[in-house]
Amino acid sequence: MSDVTGAELRALMARVPSVEKVMASAEFAGLVVEFGRTQVLGMLRQALDQWRVDAQSGEASVNALDVAQLHARVDAALRQRNQPRLRSVFNLTGTVLHTNLGRALLPDEAVQAVMTALTQPANLEFDLDTGKRGDRDDLIDDLICELTGAEAATVVNNNAAAVLLTLSALASKKEVIVSRGELVEIGGAFRIPDIMSRAGAKLREVGTTNRTHLKDYDEAITPQTALLMKVHASNYAINGFTKEVGVEEIAPLAHARGLAVAVDLGSGTLVDLAQWGLPRETTVRETIEVGADLVTFSGDKLLGGPQAGLIVGRRDLIARIKKHPLKRALRVGKLTLAALEPVLRMYRAPEHLAGRLTTLRLLTRPMDDIRAAAERVLPVVQRAIGARYAVAAEPMFSQIGSGALPVDVLPSYGLVVRMADGKRGGRQLLALEKLLRDMQRPVIGRIADDALRLDLRCLEALDEAQLIGQLESMNA
Ligand SMILES: *Cc1c(COP(=O)(O)O)cnc(C)c1O
Repeated sequence: MSDVTGAELRALMARVPSVEKVMASAEFAGLVVEFGRTQVLGMLRQALDQWRVDAQSGEASVNALDVAQLHARVDAALRQRNQPRLRSVFNLTGTVLHTNLGRALLPDEAVQAVMTALTQPANLEFDLDTGKRGDRDDLIDDLICELTGAEAATVVNNNAAAVLLTLSALASKKEVIVSRGELVEIGGAFRIPDIMSRAGAKLREVGTTNRTHLKDYDEAITPQTALLMKVHASNYAINGFTKEVGVEEIAPLAHARGLAVAVDLGSGTLVDLAQWGLPRETTVRETIEVGADLVTFSGDKLLGGPQAGLIVGRRDLIARIKKHPLKRALRVGKLTLAALEPVLRMYRAPEHLAGRLTTLRLLTRPMDDIRAAAERVLPVVQRAIGARYAVAAEPMFSQIGSGALPVDVLPSYGLVVRMADGKRGGRQLLALEKLLRDMQRPVIGRIADDALRLDLRCLEALDEAQLIGQLESMNA
């Protein structure tokens, strides 16, 4: 019935109930309690307006005006609209510190501390000894110094902020010497040359992409030089005919000329990861020991804490950094400090670290454990996605992620989904990937080599039970 006459239309419109009447119904009373009158009224008006539009083109049924039907419609619309936009997902990408999936997961102690800080007043900037105003950095700078061997420390919003602030405070209108092999782009808009100009510092590039010598730094030093800087090549490696000058060589040169060395370590681990069989990464303490005057690193990469940027080093330099106006703009909130403190404290008991620090627990998860999980989940996945696909449990390689140890991979285990008929199935694999991504708690895997790969390293017991429950309800 596409052509509706004027008379028919008027008769139809007369059937639209009054908004007040619908709102007064028992069904809608429940919605008002849950969502508030304003929203419910707004959605009801929208539903009725839509019905009128549909009625003009002959596509509306009078039944849809029943209070029960209107309720179902408005209820669904309200629920859809109020779904959290930031949702938990299953990280089956195999990248433990996945920047797009929120990086480090916090241990319970940190979560509890955040809850407390959220709901109770705290001595954030209040000195409990003197009863006077305090400095939020005082809450954790001792702990950071203890763990890194630094004289002083401060914390800002993230490591990009740490680098920006360091350069702004120490090198504005001056030159900073950096090797051409270290002019990195971290992703997004974080590029060393750009940060440098934002901070008002002049980048003085030395050496070449693959080789930089000590004399390159030496010859570049002028009265305009403020800093010698080294940047961790977080997400790439230069192989072959290469030469990099270490902090231990640059520091004596800089100090002899009255200059400071700043090192952007990126991930910045506090402990030697080799003790857990992980690839070795220079620690913050070692970097300071060999002569760095300042080190910047992230809180939510290998450290395993909340998003933050830590700046540690010489007391006089940290004091200048803390006095810069940008410090106030880049400072951390109480939730970050609340989460960071228990995470840092865990490093005092390195024996327990692999069990207690979530990031390290995931990175060191035994292969047998991951394999057992893969074997338990396999039949459930196979049943859920049907016989068109063939699911196998296979070894694979995880990555640490977030620019930590970019070329190193960790032996892992997971599920590999291919087409059962042996064809490449590009489109069907994409459809499957989307199906999993559309679930109540989205499942994020990756497609490579004509297969959908689900690395189970990051699927610990509770998550496994939830994933299985979700997959089983697909068939129901
Ligand atoms: C990750 C990284 C950054 C940026 O750190 P955020 O905490 O993400 O702001 C800066 N420099 C290096 C070398 C990095 O690896």
